[in-house]
Amino acid sequence: MHNSRLAKIVATLGPATSDEATIRALFELGVNVFRLNFSHGTQADHARRLLILRNLEKEYARPIGVLLDLQGPKLRLGTFQDGKATLVSGQTFRLDMCSEPGHAQRAYLPHPEIFAALQPGSELLLDDGRLRLRVDRCGSDFAETTVMVGGQISDRKGLNVPSVILPISPLTPKDREDLEFGLALGVDWVALSFVQRPQDIEEARAIIGSRAWIMAKLEKPSAVEHLEAIVDLCDGIMVARGDLGVELPPEQVPELQRLIVRACRKAGKPVVVATQMLESMVNAPVPTRAEVSDVATAVYDGVDAVMLSAESASGKYPLESVEMMRRIISRVEGSSPYRDGIGQGHAPTPGATSDAICASLRQVASTLSSAVTVTYTSSGFTSLRAARERSQSPILCLTPSVETARRMSMVWGVHPVQVEDVHDVGEMIERATHTAVQQGFAQAGSNIVVIAGIPFGRSGTTNLLHVARIPG
Ligand code: PGA
Ligand code: MN
Repeated sequence: MHNSRLAKIVATLGPATSDEATIRALFELGVNVFRLNFSHGTQADHARRLLILRNLEKEYARPIGVLLDLQGPKLRLGTFQDGKATLVSGQTFRLDMCSEPGHAQRAYLPHPEIFAALQPGSELLLDDGRLRLRVDRCGSDFAETTVMVGGQISDRKGLNVPSVILPISPLTPKDREDLEFGLALGVDWVALSFVQRPQDIEEARAIIGSRAWIMAKLEKPSAVEHLEAIVDLCDGIMVARGDLGVELPPEQVPELQRLIVRACRKAGKPVVVATQMLESMVNAPVPTRAEVSDVATAVYDGVDAVMLSAESASGKYPLESVEMMRRIISRVEGSSPYRDGIGQGHAPTPGATSDAICASLRQVASTLSSAVTVTYTSSGFTSLRAARERSQSPILCLTPSVETARRMSMVWGVHPVQVEDVHDVGEMIERATHTAVQQGFAQAGSNIVVIAGIPFGRSGTTNLLHVARIPG
């Protein structure tokens, strides 16, 4: 199974995609990473899906990436008399800690940490930003607000506080349980919701350790302000455009998407663009032109992966959505604007041997028109640095670690294969040529470029570049 696509597809599993036949079809259509969204469903639902994936992995002898997405804190209002109320623009509205049902002038907000962080002038968004309140006066257990944008509100609607950093952990008790559950099952990536500060990544890392890679979901303005520090601390980034577009005016989201993608590519960390990519396909077998253009734009920008959410989890056309993404990616990657633009790599980090090797890789690969770059890696580091170059030949990642192989399925251009441990350079080159042919990347007469770090098994030591010619 030789997959020539460079950008990857992440698909969320849900009620529409839980049986073996459907998950198999998604995989055969080209899904590289499956997302288990712990905002929905039970632990048992997710465990069943993961078991199906691991069986497919064995059957096809192809690593499959699994991304556990934690729900994170959800801020919600209490209930209302009659289950709902209508807030009128210009009128006052009070939030407090009294658990009685609310009405058009007040509601219960069971979050003391929000009251502690509010200031006069702070903005509160209700129900995905449909209603807006401005704080006039506040204390430790109340806030008096003016309704800036009114409308109907009902029981337990969500609330966003974009302008302030809330003193809460991104990991709720439920998240901590889900995390332990998922890590025990053997997920490869963990996505963290509600990241506000770099310390949030450190907090998660202290629990997760090396058991999985951490993907920070950028969905809050405060996280975007700390973009570089967060990119530095995590293993990957998700541009979570759903919440980002609620917390910020939607017209800022495309600009932030570009800045985030650029920062990740510079750092060599995988970046996923998520949410509403083919949203209309939840209910229709074909997307809008604008959605096609959105996916294409992300691919032209060189993202590692594009993601399906409700389209694959609960929509009517999950298979068609994956197929549509695959077609868009293939078309873009074959186009001349893509080929002309994608390889504009980033300056190597001064003093970094690995970057010097990877910059030469670009030169060698284009001079020899090599068929494939083979990276031999235990941690994935060499493959990540090679992918950072976005040079046009695919990257065959050979690794003795099944965990690394699975994690690398998220990364642009990387085709991971688990191989047995090798003991010397000769054996590695032999394994590289053999696997390049076996996986359909090279044939008799092809040149391949091999990069690795000597001694083997120590991360961050990429220092060897070797050219091999397939005999025959
Ligand atoms: P969610 O994250 O769907 O888990 O909220 C994605 C987003 O906010 O875009
Ligand atoms: Mn979100």
